[in-house]
Amino acid sequence: MLRMREGEALAKWFLEHARDLPWRREPRDPYHVLVSELMLQQTQVERVVPKFLDFVARFPTIMDLADAEENDVLEQWSGLGYYRRARLLHRLARRVVEMGGVIPNSVDELRKLPGIGPYTAAAVASFAFGRREVTLDGNVRRVAARFLASAQTGQGADARFTEWILGLMDMTPPGLINEGLIELGATVCRPAQPDCSRCPLQSGCRARRLERQTDFPAPRAVRKPVRMRWVTACAFSADGRILVTRVDAAPILQGMWLPPWFELDGTGRDDDGERARSLLPCDVHQIGPGPAVSHSVTYRRIRIEPFVYELKEECRPGKDWKLVSPDHPGVPTSSLLAKLAGSCQPVWIEWRKGLNE
Ligand code: SF4
Repeated sequence: MLRMREGEALAKWFLEHARDLPWRREPRDPYHVLVSELMLQQTQVERVVPKFLDFVARFPTIMDLADAEENDVLEQWSGLGYYRRARLLHRLARRVVEMGGVIPNSVDELRKLPGIGPYTAAAVASFAFGRREVTLDGNVRRVAARFLASAQTGQGADARFTEWILGLMDMTPPGLINEGLIELGATVCRPAQPDCSRCPLQSGCRARRLERQTDFPAPRAVRKPVRMRWVTACAFSADGRILVTRVDAAPILQGMWLPPWFELDGTGRDDDGERARSLLPCDVHQIGPGPAVSHSVTYRRIRIEPFVYELKEECRPGKDWKLVSPDHPGVPTSSLLAKLAGSCQPVWIEWRKGLNE
């Protein structure tokens, strides 16, 4: 009985206070739920909203997405990072179209699609189809751990949280409970400073009663960052475009168009500039090193040391290469391209000035 009241209080709070996000418009579109859930993995809501709107404007239905070229999908994804998600979403769309064009409504069927893990399957099944499934993400686990004052971790904790959440769903639509908990964790039951006075669950919350809110959940082990060093070849054409190639073989940034690079396994050598030059498909004027830039990809922290070149006039780089404007590349790329261009352009401009003196 108590849990039913808590479920109702949570749902009421969600309906009155939830942020107005474009994928929450009623009636829920399963395709919009899918796109938003894949975008929200590892990316903040504020960054996802404009990218989501552009994405569904460009690919309004799952059929449009399935028909698109992978390059167009990656280009539309640019700025969100973690491009593997875009590739999986594209494969998923093609699979759904092969199956008749209807997104499945059960967790079991959803889990058979590319890129769909237990969380995303439960989110689509409950938000879009009203299925009684539980979406356990970091926000929800935090709220549950505090409400139950539970320092448990791992599968035991998840089983206990799931049981509690299913109890909240007894008289309340599952989607409202799941989204209510997600919203509560994101906006009220925040990691450092929960605002318990605004919380619809405050009367039953054990951590609040104990005044130990931030003791729960128990801290998780964090993956240690891996440090890497790359040397890259930034070659400009005389009109200021930069030469990029599609990343295929590297374990990260696959499908992105970037200047070529090699990874340093030691401290670097005197001939790094020559080695970087050998990655280029044309004769170049070797200008010199540019300022190093830093870039993070998931747990990797990469220091990139660029060498700057200008392509000789007769350069015809071939189909695996493109000359692009750093400001409007028009190909799928990473924010790393803008960083490299910002670091190397002044070196190249200075060298050009010297030619005319
Ligand atoms: S009362 Fe406070 S600690 Fe408990 S769930 Fe609500 S915001 Fe979190």
